[in-house]
Amino acid sequence: MRLHFLGTGGSEGIPCLSCSCGHCEIARQNPSLRRYPTSLLLLNEENEGLLVDAGTDVNRHLEDVRLQGVALTHWHADHWTGLPRLSWTPRPLPLMCPEPERAGEFLKKGLVPLRKEPFSEERWGPFRLWSLPLRHSVPTWGYLVEDDTSGHSVALLWDTKGLPAESLRFLQDRRPSLAVVDATYPPGTEARNHNNVGEAVELGLQVAREVFLTHFSHQNWPPFRLEDFLALRYPSEAVALAYDGLKHDLSYPLGLSLRDDWARAVKP
Ligand SMILES: [Zn+2]
Ligand SMILES: [Zn+2]
Ligand SMILES: [Zn+2]
Repeated sequence: MRLHFLGTGGSEGIPCLSCSCGHCEIARQNPSLRRYPTSLLLLNEENEGLLVDAGTDVNRHLEDVRLQGVALTHWHADHWTGLPRLSWTPRPLPLMCPEPERAGEFLKKGLVPLRKEPFSEERWGPFRLWSLPLRHSVPTWGYLVEDDTSGHSVALLWDTKGLPAESLRFLQDRRPSLAVVDATYPPGTEARNHNNVGEAVELGLQVAREVFLTHFSHQNWPPFRLEDFLALRYPSEAVALAYDGLKHDLSYPLGLSLRDDWARAVKP
């Protein structure tokens, strides 16, 4: 299974419009540090795909993909506003989401919301997925996705602050190989509805061997400073920052090499 990160930012994106903070200024100077709202495409070897969230128009990334369905984490604008355009598809696709009654307000018939309870298994082509409640300001689901062809599995955990006990147990029983976790705020920052970077790493490592961090706010530290923090605090753990456009194949380990390459790329 491959992961294609279409967006890795929080609601405001980076740079945030008219913001002159250091993080936004660095992103204006270096386009590779820009972040659009969080969206992730999962692909198998046959280019069959599963899309998780679309906070902006993502159709151009899907043209060669045989999309099997869309999973939405929650109805905050930075996660769903790309869905209306997608929903014009003449080949209807299933939409997994909390509060499915809200879909009718925004979407055409191409996206068909499912009425599912959390933790029930759903199968879309080669993918099996389970929704699990997260801890956020509105009803929000994370997802566990398994790809039958490769046997890979990944936990997708945004937007959230920690995890409800039942969701944590569910993931610890199944032990996915990789977790992608909400790391909105800088280390040490306390917030009610999102993790800081330290909380995100600890949460990810509780459920998986390897961790990608995502959903960064412009209030977070710029990437090179976060890379240094991760290298010092978690020197032997497979933890990395995701960034827009990153493609990762779960057949390969997520190791320090990736982090070093990324750090070298962004440091002046
Ligand atoms: Zn969000
Ligand atoms: Zn800013
Ligand atoms: Zn949210």
